[in-house]
Amino acid sequence: MSVIDLEGVTFAYGEQPAVEDVSLTVREGDFLGLIGPNGSGKTTLLHLMLGLRNPDSGSIKLFGEPVSEFDDGERIGYVSQQATNRGGSMPVTVREVVTMGRFAHAGHGQLTDDDRTAVDDALQTVDIADLADRQLDQLSGGQRQRTYIARALASEADLLALDEPTVGVDAESRDEFYRLLESLNDDGITIILIEHDIGVVTDRATRIACINTELYHHGDTKSFVESDALTEAYGKSGQVVHHHH
Ligand code: ADP
Ligand code: MG
Repeated sequence: MSVIDLEGVTFAYGEQPAVEDVSLTVREGDFLGLIGPNGSGKTTLLHLMLGLRNPDSGSIKLFGEPVSEFDDGERIGYVSQQATNRGGSMPVTVREVVTMGRFAHAGHGQLTDDDRTAVDDALQTVDIADLADRQLDQLSGGQRQRTYIARALASEADLLALDEPTVGVDAESRDEFYRLLESLNDDGITIILIEHDIGVVTDRATRIACINTELYHHGDTKSFVESDALTEAYGKSGQVVHHHH
């Protein structure tokens, strides 16, 4: 089953396309790493995939339906770029944020015991049960990250999309975070991860899409590593970030 289908997708904010003629398919169970230099259209492409922007041309399907008709939002857990840095001063607790993930399931806003159990399970899966009553703005970047993941789990999302989720998260929490993503993926959740650290992506992702406005590579991680796509897409910009173990 394909989760996302793009065909010939082009989008421009102004004159110059930010995404040009991109065709690719994300299948159920994929862990797709989406990479490319700064300003190469990664965030824009993810927005297009999730129906947050409409393409100028081309077609987009989500879970087999035209994205414009898709209305099963709870199937998607989306953590936007810099979501971790944005503490804000919203007086909302971790449990409240995660509970929001259940609203789509709750009839007339009444949470059932099943809903409460789903919230507790999600908090436990990402290991933040002890933080349930803390306010979101009192958490570290990594803890906030887990809160958003827990919200997606509580909503029983089939697809997790994360845009540079570990910016501002310390190295140790980062490793733990990526192990969590791997285990969620092992449990069958499809993952799309935008990450600027190529090493992290090639270590964790099963498939790679490498873009610089156009798509330079889409396929399994091994064929990506063996190809010239990386140097071609990054050109002379010298922005490649390698992860050292
Ligand atoms: P990435 O996520 O790979 O850094 P983006 O998708 O954010 O790239 O941006 C792709 C291109 O589109 C860049 O040239 C960027 O400046 C431009 N861009 C992004 N968002 C907007 C916007 N809201 N309005 C105008 N241009 C934008
Ligand atoms: Mg971006």
